[in-house]
Order: sequence, then C-alpha cells, then structure tokens
Amino acid sequence: MRHEGLLGATFADGGVGAAYAAGKVLVVRVGDRELEPDEYHARPDTEITGWAHVCSCGWHGTHWRRATGPGDQDLPARRVWSAHPSPPMDTIDLISGHEYADHIAPIREGLLASLLRLAGDHVLTAVGRARELGASWSDIGAATGLTPEDAHARWQHAPIQLVTPRHGAQLAALARLCTPA
Ligand SMILES: [Zn+2]
Repeated sequence: MRHEGLLGATFADGGVGAAYAAGKVLVVRVGDRELEPDEYHARPDTEITGWAHVCSCGWHGTHWRRATGPGDQDLPARRVWSAHPSPPMDTIDLISGHEYADHIAPIREGLLASLLRLAGDHVLTAVGRARELGASWSDIGAATGLTPEDAHARWQHAPIQLVTPRHGAQLAALARLCTPA
C-alpha cells in the first residue's frame, strides 16, 4: 500500500481535486474511491466546498469547509475563505498540519524497525520506501546500527519513486486540461 498524501480540494459529493489549472480542478477521487486515470475529470473551482488532507491509502484528515466570503471565515470552526482553488497559504499548515505526519510516522517507524530483519533486495526496497516517507539517513543508520554516512554509502541506490504511476497520470491529465481544445 502506497501512501501518497495531498492537500485536496473537496466537493459536496465527496469528490477530491488534486490539481488546479485555468479555473478547473482535476478530480482524482470520489469518497473513499481513488479514480482510475480514465475517470479523472475537471470541475469548475467555484464548486469547491472545502479542503482536506487525503492519502492514497484511504486515510483523510480533518475537513475544512470553504467559507462563503471573507466575513464568514471562522478558523476555530474550520471554516476558511479562499477565492482561489487552494486555501490561503497561512492556513495550509492548519489544515494539513501534524495530521498527515502523524499518519505516516508509525508506517515509517515500522519500515525502519523491519530493516534488520530483511535481506538482500528487500532491504533496498524498504530503505527506498522509508526515504519516500521522509526517513533521513540518520534515521536509517540508527535503525541498522550504522552511521548516517555508512547507511548512505550502502543504500544510496535504493529506488525512490518521486513520480509514481498515479502521480504521472495526474500530471498528464492536468496537461490535457491546460491544452485548449
Ligand atoms: Zn496513507
């Protein structure tokens, strides 16, 4: 199970948008279901009803509603105003905040704890996954009894997917969105 988090725009029917272009939002998920790339579609950003941090595994953080105007904003009530598809920069930390970090920290720790029990290619794969989840070479060294330098020297070629197939499909769909018909 991959964990790819994003701060998504949300819609009344549970749609989640992953990217924005030209007044449109690319919807990649509805409710708990990740859409297949051929189901990705665009919606007007005026239909956004809120924002939430979501993960490809199905986890999602606290939902923030889009206020109806600047005067309707009420941060303690998790109602935030933005005229744009994304929430204001100064509230992004509030929305995504520690929740996503709290979600992936135990997963990362579990991976690190497993490193000493793994052998061969499995350890290389696990190091790469831990790196994708934010583990530093110090973390990996500490988990395996190595210095950060030795851990780096041993596993620097661990495969890391910065652009996963799903992310790649989203980028391609966004490019089509931006191309005038
Ligand atoms: Zn996840």
